Amino acid sequence: MSMRAIQGWQAATILNRSPEGRHFGFDYSLNPYRGCFHGCRYCYARESHQYLNLNLAEDFEQRLFVKHNLAPRLAHELTRIPLTATIALGTVTDPYQPLEGRHRLTRQALELLADSGHRLTITTKSPLIERDLDVLAPMGQRRQLAVHVSLISLDRPLLHRLEPGTAPPRRRLLTVRRLKDAGVPVAVFVAPIIAGFTDQEEHLDALLKAVRDAGADWVMAAPLRISPALRPYLWEHLAGINPEAAEILRLVYGSQQMPGAPYRRLLEHRIDRLTTRYGLSRQPTALVPYRRHQQLIFPFP
Ligand code: SF4
Repeated sequence: MSMRAIQGWQAATILNRSPEGRHFGFDYSLNPYRGCFHGCRYCYARESHQYLNLNLAEDFEQRLFVKHNLAPRLAHELTRIPLTATIALGTVTDPYQPLEGRHRLTRQALELLADSGHRLTITTKSPLIERDLDVLAPMGQRRQLAVHVSLISLDRPLLHRLEPGTAPPRRRLLTVRRLKDAGVPVAVFVAPIIAGFTDQEEHLDALLKAVRDAGADWVMAAPLRISPALRPYLWEHLAGINPEAAEILRLVYGSQQMPGAPYRRLLEHRIDRLTTRYGLSRQPTALVPYRRHQQLIFPFP
């Protein structure tokens, strides 16, 4: 077994423009780290480690990079983008993975963004986000920020094998509740839904009921995409967890990256039915830029 290695990284750019991000409601992505200790088997970001001449398996979880120059670069780049831009924090790594406890780069980014006023979404699986409630709450209350907590199952042993470094499901639901109580708009991302493993009606029913009870404002749900690069690694792990379920997955996907239309329709109907049953919206909360400096200008009598 290889040892974890953490390296500093001087990033040339902190905000990455994402034309395709528009589909998901953002213009720029921001990732304080490269690689992710959480080690989700299905993670689409694994293959980004191959651009660093590292592998998408254990290297992604153990060869981690910390962007030490994040704060000065981000402060500069925020002055060069329009206030109407939306930024997504955590698209190829979890910004609250354990590294954040020590390095606090996400915290630094948050403080800069609270001041700049840009709209922000944060996607995480980690209760460590609660540490920053003092900054998140005012941003959430003025609708500058929404948080997406990812949770694909309530089955703790299954999750432990699919996402070995993440917090247990009930702990993540508690984070949803705490964010909600602090006035932060919060969604649960039920993604990826893994055919054969987490797509059964009763499985999703229990999950969405718990999501409703935790107070989520809305839900996003989407099936797994299996990229060609990830396929061998994923098959090996999923077959090791549950060979019968992996066989169902194989039948549903064949050699495709996405399941065929009949399966997607069936899943969509299931999610529609269950979100309706539990009164859960599928509509993201609308965010607004925060024009702090404008609000500080008072007319003279
Ligand atoms: S937490 Fe997110 S970025 Fe990290 S391994 Fe899991 S899916 Fe990938």
